[in-house]
Amino acid sequence: MNHTELSAAINELRRERNAVILAHYYQEDAVQDIADATGDSLQLAVAARDTDADVILFAGVHFMAETAKILNPDRTVLLPDLEAGCSLAESCPTAEFAAFKKLHPDHQVLTYVNCTAEIKALSDIIVTSSNAEKIVRSLPTDQPLIFAPDRNLGAWLSRKLNRELLLWDGACEVHEIFDLTKLRKLKAQHPDAPVLAHPECTAELLAEADFVGSTAKLLRRTVESDATQFIVMTEPGIIHQMHKLAPGKRFIEVPGRKDGEELPHNYCSHMRLITLEKVYHTLRDGKPEITLPGELLAAARRPIERMLEF
Ligand code: 13P
Ligand code: SF4
Repeated sequence: MNHTELSAAINELRRERNAVILAHYYQEDAVQDIADATGDSLQLAVAARDTDADVILFAGVHFMAETAKILNPDRTVLLPDLEAGCSLAESCPTAEFAAFKKLHPDHQVLTYVNCTAEIKALSDIIVTSSNAEKIVRSLPTDQPLIFAPDRNLGAWLSRKLNRELLLWDGACEVHEIFDLTKLRKLKAQHPDAPVLAHPECTAELLAEADFVGSTAKLLRRTVESDATQFIVMTEPGIIHQMHKLAPGKRFIEVPGRKDGEELPHNYCSHMRLITLEKVYHTLRDGKPEITLPGELLAAARRPIERMLEF
């Protein structure tokens, strides 16, 4: 099937199955364009909570589809490729994290949504990069806090709020490898272009940024700012929405560098496993489906609901 036929077939199946397609900003353009809603992880969790569709097809990675299932245990949640994982979620194995938590019984556990359902179940409050700052600010300053799994987001919060956080040593393999030398060259070439960066980047990269925020906040910045060009330091899938919402402006990607080689597009290989073809097959076959044991669903829901209360 060509692109037009695939889109038509997806639309028909979506109607038949009463399905909703939710896509993260890091998805390829065609997948974002077929979605009922695109967003960052907070917006998509809220959309998953609020939908009345029978089926949620999640175009994103495994932990996001799990979050949708945790919030909708009675609905069918489909993920077009179960291999679509996340290096950050993988950097926080359950047994090790449970042992770490045990060593600090007086600490509350704040966990970034990029983690498995098992880690969510061990947490007090889930945060996303959109609301982490607000949630930390709301907690008493004498309350010791563990922040997991992203050491970069945790360290950025800690610097910004001047508050000590006990950090789990995890990271995102995409945001850590933006090329600092190339970034500096781009800044010199485009002195009028503010650098927009996601807080999963290292402190060294963030020190070069003019604005730091979640993907939704970076997107909003491109709309609201008077600048006409931007250097974008997050997964470049977001640039598709930037072109749509801030037409006529210019968006410059920061390349990555891995094993000495330049990556002109620093894509998240997990996010990019989802294709229009897989979306079609998944809606047609009703699988792969996300399933989780009832006890785990209940334990993981509590800290997510605490977050959504904010
Ligand atoms: P946000 O969607 O919260 O901006 O996070 C980006 C990310 O890395 C998702 O995996
Ligand atoms: Fe995970 Fe990083 Fe990919 Fe986001 S960009 S899904 S944090 S590996």
